[in-house]
Amino acid sequence: MYDYLVIGGGSGGLASARRAASYGANVGLIEGSGRLGGTCVNVGCVPKKVMWNTASIAEAIHDAKEYGFPEVGSPTFDWLTLKNKRDAYIQRLNGIYERNLLKDNVKYITGMASFISNDSVTLDNGEVISAKKILIAVGGRPIIPNVPGGELAIDSDKFFELEHQPKRVAVVGTGYIGIELAGIFHALGSKVSIFARTQEILRSFDHIIKDTLKKEMLNIGIEIITDSKVKFLAKSEGNAINVNYVSNGNEDTAEYDAVLWAVGREPLVQKLDLGNTGVTLNDKGYIHVNEYQETVVPDVYALGDVCGVEQLTPVAIAAGRRLSDRLFGPEQFKNSKLDYKDVPSVIFSHPTAGSVGLTEDQAKKEYGTENLNVYVSEFSGMYNAMRTHKTPSAFKLVCAGPEEKVVGIHLIGPGSDEMLQGFAVAVKLGATKADFDSTVAIHPTSAEELVTLTKANLKKN
Ligand SMILES: Cc1cc2nc3c(=O)[nH]c(=O)nc-3n(C[C@H](O)[C@H](O)[C@H](O)COP(=O)(O)OP(=O)(O)OC[C@H]3O[C@@H](n4cnc5c(N)ncnc54)[C@H](O)[C@@H]3O)c2cc1C
Repeated sequence: MYDYLVIGGGSGGLASARRAASYGANVGLIEGSGRLGGTCVNVGCVPKKVMWNTASIAEAIHDAKEYGFPEVGSPTFDWLTLKNKRDAYIQRLNGIYERNLLKDNVKYITGMASFISNDSVTLDNGEVISAKKILIAVGGRPIIPNVPGGELAIDSDKFFELEHQPKRVAVVGTGYIGIELAGIFHALGSKVSIFARTQEILRSFDHIIKDTLKKEMLNIGIEIITDSKVKFLAKSEGNAINVNYVSNGNEDTAEYDAVLWAVGREPLVQKLDLGNTGVTLNDKGYIHVNEYQETVVPDVYALGDVCGVEQLTPVAIAAGRRLSDRLFGPEQFKNSKLDYKDVPSVIFSHPTAGSVGLTEDQAKKEYGTENLNVYVSEFSGMYNAMRTHKTPSAFKLVCAGPEEKVVGIHLIGPGSDEMLQGFAVAVKLGATKADFDSTVAIHPTSAEELVTLTKANLKKN
């Protein structure tokens, strides 16, 4: 019998298992896909960032002429060569994760786990494994909508299997995954249409991000079909796919070489046979846990994407480590848990964007409009100086109360992805606008805008 059995070898499961083993616990980790690392390493953050880097290089090549490199033409891009290199890199990471488990004395068990009771699971080969404590960290998968012909489209997992670049692409959905993949396709030369359910993209983000990015995407030639609903997909000539849709009340059909569903993700709970346990789900189908990652069944825990809150790799990792600190660590960690407030996140769009804390709308609800000061700077970063196309930058600081505590930062513009982390520390420490003002700027950067916001930037509703 294990002290701790972790189901799922992704971001959260690996982190929690290794931390528990570091305290001397007897730990087993079950992974069903045959490769360690989970969504992030295999079909998420990591291969996505390789593709975003590739797209950024394409953009830099495009800018090179204006920066005085007349011979830089329009080199062709070899999608398959990059894919093979990317796959090899990920395979190396899979190996590193496996060796890390071995090194840390975590028993790596392969197979899909299903519960047979509150303290035991069975694998596909019939083996039964029991443990004193069990962690469910099985993550999620992309949702495929139930429309006729839906199977003709790919999802984000299959995006990473593409061996050739489709010339015409439809992306259905405007969450961060759809927006990022649409941006990559576009920067590498595909013609991209995005199907949006409403007038907006990135609905949960602050207006400064979603409005600025939508305008920029339209400006650089990405089509956004708003207020639309895809009704069915059908095979067209060759390998093409017809998308039949309604937009603003009008029915239409358009032909693409690839269609990508990016309409959300769902927790991977079906295979777990949770009916054999007392574990409960919330109304959206995610595992119900309290702030200590405890399900309603004693000694059964869950974290990461399967719980549906802040579905990000560092969140799953931090929750996993905190849980193991609390369960197996020294006395000082007996109340250890993850604080889910002020989690920063970034969108690898073109340009990148990032947020920490409350959006302006959320802050209005929490503090009241009269208690908020919102500072905005919309500008053209210096990288644009030699370019005809001016990629926009727009920053927003949401400050609450008479002391102007910074409760939200929303950035869009080149470099926002790397800028946000340090500012997230400031928010976590409770920094005020005066603290920002007393920080000397770094010049010439875009980041300096955040510490030089004056009354002129104050936007009052
Ligand atoms: C396209 C894309 C891009 C993303 N980009 C980012 C990003 O830039 N930054 C970021 O922070 N996050 C990003 N994410 C989100 C991030 O990948 C997830 O939040 C993170 O991987 C969640 O970790 P997890 O441990 O909860 O689950 P996962 O990493 O999904 O791991 C779950 C593991 O459990 C295994 N499993 C499932 N069921 C069973 C079973 N019954 N038995 C055994 N094993 C099982 C799965 O095979 C999987 O390996 C992205 C996600 C996607 C899809």
